[in-house]
Amino acid sequence: MVIGGGVVGASVLYHLTKAGWKDVLLIERAELTSGSTWHAAGGMHTVNGDPNVAKLQQYTIKLYEEIERISGQSCGVHITGGIMLAGTRERLDWLKMAKARGRYLGMDLELISVDEAARLFPLMDKKHFAGALYDPIEGHVDPYGVTHAYAKSAQIGGADIVRQTRVTDLQARPDGTWDVITTAGTVHAEHVVNAAGLWAREVGRMVGLELPVLAMEHQYLITGDMPELAGKQEQMHCIDFEGEIYLRQERGGMLMGTYERAGVPWSETHTPWDFGQDLLPNDLERIAPSLEIGFEHFPSLGAAGIKKVVNGPFTFAPDGNPLIGPVKGLTHYWVACGVMAGFSQGGGVGLALAQWMADGDPGADVWAMDVARYGDWATLKYTHAKVRENYSRRFSIRFPNEELTAARPLRTTPIYEQLKAENAVFGEYCALEHPLWFAPTAAEAHDRVSFRRSNSHAHVGAECAAVRESVGLLEISNYGKFEIRGPGCAEWLARLMANRVPPVGRIVLTPMLNERGKLIGDFTLCRAAAEHFFLIGTYAAEVYYLRWFERHRPPAGVSVRPCAMEYVGLSVAGPQSRALLQTLVREDLSSTAFPFLSFRRMDVGMVPAYVGRMSFTGELGYEMWVTSDYQRALYDSLVAAGREFGLRSFGGRALNAMRIEKSFGTWAREYRPIYGPFEAGLGRFVDWRKDEFIGRSAALEERASGGILKLMTFVIDAADADALGDEPILHDGRAVGWVTSGAYGHRVQRSLALGYVPAALASAEDGFEIEIIGERHRASPQAVAPYDPSGQLMRQ
Ligand SMILES: Cc1cc2nc3c(=O)[nH]c(=O)nc-3n(C[C@H](O)[C@H](O)[C@H](O)COP(=O)(O)OP(=O)(O)OC[C@H]3O[C@@H](n4cnc5c(N)ncnc54)[C@H](O)[C@@H]3O)c2cc1C
Repeated sequence: MVIGGGVVGASVLYHLTKAGWKDVLLIERAELTSGSTWHAAGGMHTVNGDPNVAKLQQYTIKLYEEIERISGQSCGVHITGGIMLAGTRERLDWLKMAKARGRYLGMDLELISVDEAARLFPLMDKKHFAGALYDPIEGHVDPYGVTHAYAKSAQIGGADIVRQTRVTDLQARPDGTWDVITTAGTVHAEHVVNAAGLWAREVGRMVGLELPVLAMEHQYLITGDMPELAGKQEQMHCIDFEGEIYLRQERGGMLMGTYERAGVPWSETHTPWDFGQDLLPNDLERIAPSLEIGFEHFPSLGAAGIKKVVNGPFTFAPDGNPLIGPVKGLTHYWVACGVMAGFSQGGGVGLALAQWMADGDPGADVWAMDVARYGDWATLKYTHAKVRENYSRRFSIRFPNEELTAARPLRTTPIYEQLKAENAVFGEYCALEHPLWFAPTAAEAHDRVSFRRSNSHAHVGAECAAVRESVGLLEISNYGKFEIRGPGCAEWLARLMANRVPPVGRIVLTPMLNERGKLIGDFTLCRAAAEHFFLIGTYAAEVYYLRWFERHRPPAGVSVRPCAMEYVGLSVAGPQSRALLQTLVREDLSSTAFPFLSFRRMDVGMVPAYVGRMSFTGELGYEMWVTSDYQRALYDSLVAAGREFGLRSFGGRALNAMRIEKSFGTWAREYRPIYGPFEAGLGRFVDWRKDEFIGRSAALEERASGGILKLMTFVIDAADADALGDEPILHDGRAVGWVTSGAYGHRVQRSLALGYVPAALASAEDGFEIEIIGERHRASPQAVAPYDPSGQLMRQ
C-alpha cells in the first residue's frame, strides 16, 4: 500500500509492479498531484553532489520515454540542455570539479567560455560572468503528465489507485502487517509506504515516528511574452549561481525561480489536511534581492514584466537529500519522502525503494538517501534550522573545509570548553561538535574556505609531526558504539561479522557483509569478557546498523545496546604514548604484557576506563573509553601527565591525513555497500575458517574472481590543492575510476589519494592521472601504504 499520489508515490507504485508485485494499491487523499507536485516547475538535471544520487537522476530522466510508451500519456519532456553560469573564480573551480566528477559517470559536461555561453543563452549579459558548464541532458517535464504516466503504467502493470480517500491512521498487527484506516474503511496491507510528501510528517506520526522534514515556501515567476524568444528554438535551462536563480522558457516568456537567502518555512509543525491544490500568497519583497540581480544579469527579463507568480511549499530533509528505506523499529513500514527534486529523483527513488521491498536490497548505493542516516538528534527544531540553512545555500558553494553553522553547537562532550580553550576549530558530525584542528591563537581559530590547501594546512602538519615524533591527544567520542552482552552473543556476532570473534582481552577489525557479500559496515570488535563485547563503528551509521541487527535478531538473552554518547573517548598516539600512559596506569603496558590489539578494563589515574591498544594514525597508540562523567578527569590527567612528553592535541583533519598515509579506509568513503571486502582491501579480515557468516558464499566468489574493482593508494604530483574525493582517476587519458578520499600526507610529505579502479588495472604501474580542479596530475600507484607499510610502528 502506497500512501500518497504525488510524483514519488506514483513512481514507487510503478516500480513495485515492475518488480513483479501485482497486489498493490495507492491511496490518494484528493486527486493525484495534490501536494507539491502539481505546481512544480518541472525542471530536471543530472548533476548532484553525490555521484550515487547523480546516477539515480540519470536513471529518472531516461525513464520518461519508458513510461510514456507504456501509458500512452505524454510526460511533456523538453530536453533543452542547460548551462550553469559562474560569476567568480571559485565558482569556476567548482564547475571544473563538477565536470570532472561527471566524467566517470559518463556525463557529457563541457566547460565553455562566456562567449560560447552567450551564444547558447543570448538573454545573459556577459559582463557578469567568468565561464559556464554546459550539460546537454537538462530540461523540464510536465508534472501532471509525469505523475499520470507513472500511475497509468502502474495500473497497466496490475496496480489499483483509489482517489479521494484519506489514510487517517495506521495500526500494526502482531504479525507485522498493517491495518490502514481510511475515510472509506480499513484496508489490510502487508507493507505500507509513506510517500505523503507535504504530509509525510503526519503519516509518520501515525506510527510514532518524527521524520526530519520541513516544507519551505518556494517562488517562481513567469514573465510576459518576450520578443527575444519569438520564432526561436526553445531557450535552454540556465542556473545563475551568484544570482541564486534558475531560468527556463515557459511558452513565450521565461520562468525564473529563486532560492532566496531569507527562505520561509511553511506549516512548521503540522500540515493542514485541507490544503489542496492551493497556492500561497506571493511575497515578491522577499525575493526582491534575487530578482534585482536577475534583471541585471538578464536585462530583457526585466522589460518583459511579470505575468504570474507561483508560491508553493515543498519538503526538504536537513541535508536536502531524500529519506528512503525501511524504518528501524517498525515492521514493513517504508518511507519515500523529503524528495525535493521529484522530477530528477522520483524515478530513482521509486526504483530503489521497490527493489528494497521486493528483494531486501535497494540494488544501488543509496546511503546518501537512507532514512537511517538520521538519529534522534535530528529533532524538529534541528531539522528546521538545517533545512532553512540548506535552502538558503542551495546555490552556494560548499567548500571542502567549510563547516556550516546552523543548529550549532547542539551536542557537545564534557571537554568541549577545554578544547575550545586550546583554540580548537570544530566540525559537526551527527550534530556533535568535534575538533578538526587546533590553531595557535584564538584569533586564528577559523577556516578560510578554499578548494586548495588552506590556513589550517601548516597547523595540521604540526599536529601530524607531534604524533610522529612524540605523542598526540585526540578526542574520539564521535564513533558509534554498541555494548553487546549475554549468553550466545559470541555466536551471534560470529554469524554477523566476517572476521573471527576475538578471545577475551583482544580486539579484531571486522567487516560486516550483506547476503550479497557487499560491505555494510567496518567495525572494531573488542571483547571485555566472555559475554561482553564493545562494537565500535561509524556514528552516522548507528541507526543503519541497528536496523540490520533488528533484521538479524540476536537470540534470547543477548542485548545489543547503542551507547555512543554514554561512552566517550580519548586517544593518545605516537612513540611516547606508552610512556605517557604508563605514568597513569598500574598495569604493565609493555608489548609483551599488553600487545597490539589488546583490550582491558583499567584505571587511568582515578578514571575507570576500557583501554584498547590501537590507533587509526598507524602509530603506537591507545584508545580509552569512559562513561561521559569521567571524560573531563581523564583529559586533565592525560594533559598533566603529557607535559613532560610534549603532548599536543590533534584533530580530525590530521587523523584523516594519517589514516590515508596508512591506506586505511573508512565508512561511506572507501567502504560502501557497492564494494566487496576484497575489492576494498579487507580480504585479510575475512575468516574463512568459520563455516557460516552472512555473505560468506558471495565473498568466496569475490575472492575467486578477484572482484571487479580494486582500492588503490596513489601519490599525486600536486602543487597547492589535494584530492578530496570523487575526482576521476584516468588511465591513458580515459576515466577509469574515482577517488574516495584524498589529503596531504604530512608525515610522508606527499599528496595522497585512495580510490577505486578496475581490478584489471590494479597492477598497472603508470599511466594514471587524477584531475584536481580542472588540472590533471600524474598519480603513482603504491604497492604498499606510503607510511610504515610493515606496520611495525603500531606494533612496537
Ligand atoms: C514552486 C515549486 C517549484 C518546484 N520546482 C521543481 C522543479 O523544477 N523540479 C523538481 O524536480 N521539483 C520541483 N519542485 C519540487 C517537487 O514538487 C517535489 O519534489 C515533488 O512534488 C515531491 O513529490 P511527492 O510525491 O514526494 O510529494 P507531494 O507532491 O506532496 O505528494 C504527496 C501526496 O500524498 C497525498 N497524501 C498525503 N497524505 C495522505 C494521506 N494521509 N492519505 C492519502 N493521501 C495522502 C497528498 O494528497 C499528495 O497528493 C518544486 C516545488 C514547488 C513547490
